[in-house]
Amino acid sequence: MHHFAYTGSNLHCESVDLAAVAQLYGTPTYVYSAATIADNYNRLMQGLHGLDVRVCYAMKANSNIAVLRHFANLGAGFDLVSGGELRRVLAAGADVTGSVFAGVGKSEAEIRLALESRIHAFHVESEPELVRINHVAGKLGVKAPIAFRINPDVDAHTHAKVTTGKAGNKFGIPLAKAEAAYAAAAKCPNIAIRGVQMHIGSQLTSITPFGEAVEKLVPLAAELKQRHNIEYFSIGGGIGIIYKDALASGSREWWTSQPEATRPITPEAYGAALTPLLKPLGLKILLEPGRFLVGNAGVLLSQVEYLKRGQGKNFLILDAAMNDLVRPAMYDSFHQIVPLRRDTTRPAITADIVGPVCESGDCFAKDRDIQQLSEGEHVAFMSAGAYGCTMASRYNSRCMPAEVLVHGATFDLIKARETFDDQIASENIPAFLK
Ligand SMILES: *Cc1c(COP(=O)(O)O)cnc(C)c1O
Repeated sequence: MHHFAYTGSNLHCESVDLAAVAQLYGTPTYVYSAATIADNYNRLMQGLHGLDVRVCYAMKANSNIAVLRHFANLGAGFDLVSGGELRRVLAAGADVTGSVFAGVGKSEAEIRLALESRIHAFHVESEPELVRINHVAGKLGVKAPIAFRINPDVDAHTHAKVTTGKAGNKFGIPLAKAEAAYAAAAKCPNIAIRGVQMHIGSQLTSITPFGEAVEKLVPLAAELKQRHNIEYFSIGGGIGIIYKDALASGSREWWTSQPEATRPITPEAYGAALTPLLKPLGLKILLEPGRFLVGNAGVLLSQVEYLKRGQGKNFLILDAAMNDLVRPAMYDSFHQIVPLRRDTTRPAITADIVGPVCESGDCFAKDRDIQQLSEGEHVAFMSAGAYGCTMASRYNSRCMPAEVLVHGATFDLIKARETFDDQIASENIPAFLK
C-alpha cells in the first residue's frame, strides 16, 4: 500500500498535487512519500513482532541523506556497501554503530573508516577479506566484529542480474565451508564473531526461497552458537514489490482482491512463514530490506517532449531517459507510467515510451497503452523509489535529476537538480592542449 492516488483528475502524493511539484522544480524529478516509507517500515516490524528484530535499511536502494535521516528517526540502522555510504549515514546525522557493512570488495581505507566509526559488524564474504579486516583492526588496536555471509545455494527465481544466493554467484561463502571459516575467524586475534548472514537476491515474488534458505542456515546458526559468540542472524533483504499494478496496489481493496495463491508477498505473510523457523534459534534477527521499504514510496516525474507518429508505430518521447532511471534498460524492468492529469474523455494510444538518449536501449516501455498526451504534459513512473535515483548517471552530459520529499501537504527539495557548472566542475584541460 502507498500514498499515491488520483484526487479528482490529478495524481497526488499524500496531499500534494504532483503537478505542483513538476511546475516548481521541473522534470525529471524523483518524488518520495515520507508516510509510505514509515508505513512500510512499521508494517514490516509488526509482521515480525514475534522476534527480536532490527531493520538495517539497505541504503543502496535510495541513499539521499533526508531519506536516511527519516529511517534513523524511525529507529532503523543501515546496510551499507561502501565508504561513501558510510559517510552518507554520518552526513545524515545518524549513527553507524547499529549498521552493518556488506560487499565483496571492501578496501583497507573503507575497513579503517568503518572500525573508527564503530560499525556493528562487517559481513565478510571471503577468507582474504577476513585476513585484511584482522590486519587493519590489529593496526588500530581494536577487535573487528564480523558475521560471514553464507551462500545457501537456493534459487531465488528472480532476474539473473539480481540473484545472489546460488552457488556460482560471486557472493558469500559456500555452506559446506562455513564451519571452517568460523573456525579460522576464531583464531584471528583481532576478530570478534558476532553473527551469521545471508542474502539470496532481490525482487523475490515468492516466500518459498526465503523459507528454503532460512531452513538451510538455521541448523548451521544453532551449531555455531554452541561454539562461538553468535548474537544475531541476518536474513538479508529481497522482498519484492508491485510494478505491474503499481498505482492500484496503493489501496487495501487491491490487495484483498488478489487470489490467495498468487498474492504478492506481504510483511504479514513473510513474518508468518519465517517466525516459526527463526524463533527457536533465540537470536536477534537482522533484516536488510531496501526495495520493499522505498520502492513503492517514490515516483519519477517526467514531461512529454514529443509525440512522434512513425510508420505503424508511435513514440512518446519524454525528458527522462535511461540515465535517470536505468532499470528498464538494465533489468528489462516494467514501470507503470501514468499521466499526472487523467482525462478519460481522451482516446488511448499505443506507443513506445522512450527517452532522448542516443541508445536503442533508452526505451522505458514497448507498445504501451496510455492516454493520448501532448507536448508539455507530465507523466509519473510508479514504483521508482528504489534503485532509481541511486543508479542515475550523467550519460549524454545530462544533469542529475532533482529529488523531493513529500510530508502530508508539504514538500521539500532534498536534492537540487544538478547544474551544468556542477557537472564539469572537476574536469580540467591540461596545459599541453592549450
Ligand atoms: C542489496 C542488498 C540488500 C537489499 O536488497 P533489496 O532487494 O533491495 O531488499 C540486502 N542485503 C544485501 C547484502 C544487499 O546487497
